[in-house]
Amino acid sequence: MKQSNFDAVVVGGGHAGAEAASAAARSGGSVALVTLRIDGIGIMSCNPAIGGVGKGHLVREIDALDGIMGRVGDQAAIQFRLLNRSKGPAVQGPRAQMDRKLYRLGIQRELETVERITVIEGEVTDFIVDGGGRIGGVQLADGSEIRSRAVVLTTGTFLRGVIRLGEEARHAGRVGDRASTRLAERMESLDLPLGRMKTGTPPRLDGRTICWDGLEDQPGDGAPVMLSFLSKGPLARQISCAITHTVEATHCIIRDNLNRSAIYGGHFRGIGPRYCPSIEDKVVRFADKVSHQVFLEPEGLDDCTVYPNGISTSLPTEVQERFVRTIPGLENVVILQPGYAIEYDFVDPKALRPTLELPALSGLFLAGQINGTTGYEEAAAQGIVAGINAARHAFELEPVMFPRSESYIGVMIDDLTTRGVSEPYRMFTSRAEYRLSLRADNADQRLTPKACSLGIVSNRRKKLFDAKMADLTSAKAAIGNCSLTPNEAAKHGIRIAADGARRNGMDLLAFPDVTVDRLVQIWPELGGIGSDLAKQVEFDAIYGKYLERQQRSVEALKRDEGRRIPGGIDYASIAGLSNELSGKLGSARPETLGQARRIDGMTPAALALILARIRLTERQTA
Ligand code: FAD
Repeated sequence: MKQSNFDAVVVGGGHAGAEAASAAARSGGSVALVTLRIDGIGIMSCNPAIGGVGKGHLVREIDALDGIMGRVGDQAAIQFRLLNRSKGPAVQGPRAQMDRKLYRLGIQRELETVERITVIEGEVTDFIVDGGGRIGGVQLADGSEIRSRAVVLTTGTFLRGVIRLGEEARHAGRVGDRASTRLAERMESLDLPLGRMKTGTPPRLDGRTICWDGLEDQPGDGAPVMLSFLSKGPLARQISCAITHTVEATHCIIRDNLNRSAIYGGHFRGIGPRYCPSIEDKVVRFADKVSHQVFLEPEGLDDCTVYPNGISTSLPTEVQERFVRTIPGLENVVILQPGYAIEYDFVDPKALRPTLELPALSGLFLAGQINGTTGYEEAAAQGIVAGINAARHAFELEPVMFPRSESYIGVMIDDLTTRGVSEPYRMFTSRAEYRLSLRADNADQRLTPKACSLGIVSNRRKKLFDAKMADLTSAKAAIGNCSLTPNEAAKHGIRIAADGARRNGMDLLAFPDVTVDRLVQIWPELGGIGSDLAKQVEFDAIYGKYLERQQRSVEALKRDEGRRIPGGIDYASIAGLSNELSGKLGSARPETLGQARRIDGMTPAALALILARIRLTERQTA
């Protein structure tokens, strides 16, 4: 029997596994990455894009911790778009569309070049358990053993995966990959709290059979915003996408065949992603809508495959062909691979510590879709946390925590481990109560110092970060040293309260329409500040005031945690509370504000509304 030894074993080469292996190796550990197919490392199972609102924040945080997703994403990106550009920086999310092949190869290259990582092709079927309930490594299907003091399990949708297309079903981890059944059975024997979830993907289209003329063009941004703080600009050729839409005839075909859909035909018992609904879901849930947008996203520069974002489906292939061809531009389209749905096991993340370790088996860490999340970014962000902590566990070092106030990563881990999941969990900015300070633009300021202190940052990043912070500090000092009175400001066209008080440049930047460029017109000596740095100074100035207010409201909310909620409260009558939340509150009937806070999907804004209602009820009954 073959046996080898490593500090940590990472099982799975998806998005969680790649970050976990890289983070454990950067932490100084020797790592075995075991995965079913080496050429499948870094595969994007569904949409060819990384980032977005909330998800883009996670990518920037992964990057700030010197993870690989953002850097490789920038190298492979064929279109960049900053989402929510017209809104405030706190909710702007960088998104990039990938050349699927370039991304997969980029991740493989990243892992190959790290000396401490050994990639092994194989199927993990069992855990080695040492005395005292400690993990001792893993066993592979060929009987070989890899011994290690820590194991990170990142098996995605593979545990007892079943894919369904119409009435057909077969065991698979995703199209083209076998399911992981023996490991799932082993997990069950450990008495872990397992559940079932489901998700789906759209058909892939042959772009050569799409009639692009007449479709709305969707170009990328003129000034691309990169995913990584280290990237200077796009490397690959940039392309446009197109937008089309479903029509009444599309909806008719879908409605007539709902009983043949794997999701609607009652073939699945797992819980699906409400925020990423299938086209069947949309047609039923939004029955009054006559049309839904479909984004046609090319999957690569030398690939004719097109991903039609918005029509994920599990209807039989023949029905998919009929409904797709009712969509303008797709009248003669050829489907290269039909859409399908997948159902798989997940572990209730409430069983995990905030380090993502499973206390039931010391040294076993879980990350990614196995924990009930959905999305590459959510998986990668957990991977980095599990990878760092697995290496630290192997070296008997203190674990590292990520508090909610510091990062979206912390928000996600806290949500997962304290509230659990009632549906596949994806990141939204509304999940973060501290979102004014947790911006995509300042992820490096929040997390790179922590990463440096953990010793997981490359010299190059550290040098660039230190230089940026030195420039930022001196730019803020220079701007803060310039000041003027309201009368002087008025002479320069800046309207502020005529209170006689002098305001410095940082105060002025907090006013709408005041930019660093504007200040340079008043004080030409500020002229040397580069445009990226100027943007950062402007954001920090705008949010400085809000942050003080946010801190006060956070403290007030903490004081109100134990406040009792009157029994007869009618949540449906609270204006501004979403139907979804009022339904959840109505059935959970929390007794205190603290309990309401822990309800899945609860937002700080909704809590403020409930608090206002409690106060009103108290006044009325006093
Ligand atoms: P994966 O990327 O799935 O990686 C799992 C890895 O584990 C693979 O490398 C596999 O080879 C390996 N593995 C499994 N079992 C073993 C074993 N026993 N031994 C060794 N290796 C093993 N996300 C969205 O955000 N939106 C969507 O609409 C969406 N739709 C999806 C539709 C489908 C059909 C699928 C399959 C996924 C979809 N996703 C979607 C999810 C997205 O692909 C995942 O969230 C993401 O890939 C999860 O990353 P992961 O690292 O946890 O797992």
